[in-house]
Amino acid sequence: MTSMIKSMAEAKRVAVIGGGAAGMMAAIRAARAGASVTLFERNDRLGKKLRITGKGRCNLTNDCDREEFLRNVPTNPRFLYTALSVWSTEDTKDFFEELGVPLKTERGKRVFPVSDRASDVVSALERACRAEGVEILHRRVRRLLARDDRVYGVQSGAEEIPFDAVILCTGGKSYPLTGSDGDGYRMAEELGHTVTRLCPSLVPLVADGRLCASMQGLSLKNVSFRVTEVATGKRVFEDFGELMFTHFGLTGPTVLSASAHLSDIAQGRYEAQIDLKSALDEKMLDARIRSDFEKYKNRDLINSLGDLLPQKMIEPFVSLCGIDPRKKIHSVTREERAVMVQTLKCLRIPLRGFRPLDEAIVTRGGIDVREVRPGSMESKRIRGLYFAGEILDVDAYTGGFNLQIAFSTAVLAGDAAASDD
Ligand SMILES: Cc1cc2nc3c(=O)[nH]c(=O)nc-3n(C[C@H](O)[C@H](O)[C@H](O)COP(=O)(O)OP(=O)(O)OC[C@H]3O[C@@H](n4cnc5c(N)ncnc54)[C@H](O)[C@@H]3O)c2cc1C
Repeated sequence: MTSMIKSMAEAKRVAVIGGGAAGMMAAIRAARAGASVTLFERNDRLGKKLRITGKGRCNLTNDCDREEFLRNVPTNPRFLYTALSVWSTEDTKDFFEELGVPLKTERGKRVFPVSDRASDVVSALERACRAEGVEILHRRVRRLLARDDRVYGVQSGAEEIPFDAVILCTGGKSYPLTGSDGDGYRMAEELGHTVTRLCPSLVPLVADGRLCASMQGLSLKNVSFRVTEVATGKRVFEDFGELMFTHFGLTGPTVLSASAHLSDIAQGRYEAQIDLKSALDEKMLDARIRSDFEKYKNRDLINSLGDLLPQKMIEPFVSLCGIDPRKKIHSVTREERAVMVQTLKCLRIPLRGFRPLDEAIVTRGGIDVREVRPGSMESKRIRGLYFAGEILDVDAYTGGFNLQIAFSTAVLAGDAAASDD
């Protein structure tokens, strides 16, 4: 009995701020390592953002090795080397399988729950928190308390609550309705931390001109999507898949992925190029057009492209080619056909910018990783303060990498905070 009282008295009191992917994992790890853990979540339920990940299916990791993983992290990959060595994608898979969430791997090594339900991932993490005795408080933390460069608690409402260590897992600043509105950046800055410039990544792209708006709502599958730097002609991104035209420009999986490869997207710097017929080379495409023309030989051009293009695209396409839409098929010239082929193979869309941070899948920028120990996620400025997840200045491409980063950094922070002295 005495030893039990003693060990309870000695247990480190750890506050975890933010009940998202990183926060729940950090809480579980710290509790398993013997700490007395309180998890603060401002929303009335945990994992609000996690529930909408992967279109509600939660792509929770990527089944690749560490080297391939780091190639998918454009910002500060080296900082994550230890975290991914200690807690790999394999560990994440085992962890969730052990919590009763069977997993499956899809195209691009993306790992999902077999149920296709992100809520199963949240429930499993929440169950594990409760099983480990984590106290869950649905309260917003306003301030971190520190003196002599050491954290000693948190302030929530008017109340100051003492803790031996604090793990800040408040996420980024995108999709603020999920609760991740950048509160953690402010709290860390108040203690002297540097927050690097915040900008959107994995975000829809704004186009110049009216072309996209004229095809608003049209979704294309199996197209080749490229982004080129106009001045140098350098291809900065290329992918094959799905995209959608909107009133402002472009969105969809390939477009979001492209955004993570673009920096300083000033007006005129980049151009999107869509190959609408990637299965056909120019010669084959010309033959295909001629055969359609043969089929519809007495029609106007505008009424003869239904086999080649989606209806919504026909008018904008013909006008882009600079051909009179009412021209009879039999009088379309060889040169005009060549312009059609070129436009089908390379539909050019000048880009103007990103959509705002609110609409980004992830926030680029965050706590400067030079001020954080990569082996424990502890602050180099404030003893007892730890960071995990998207609040850090790390971000990755789509494919389950961002959640794996949240889990790996949380494991280090949770373990280290529990043994903090
Ligand atoms: C639409 C969408 C789809 C995505 N899909 C995927 C995907 O399939 N795969 C993938 O890898 N990544 C995906 N991501 C990215 C991924 O969701 C995030 O990178 C990840 O959730 C970050 O985890 P986190 O715990 O650091 O932050 P969050 O999950 O954002 O959690 C932070 C938590 O902190 C709480 N909080 C904030 N401030 C306070 C405060 N002051 N006091 C108390 N609580 C506070 C918030 O309410 C929130 O619950 C997606 C993102 C979005 C927006």
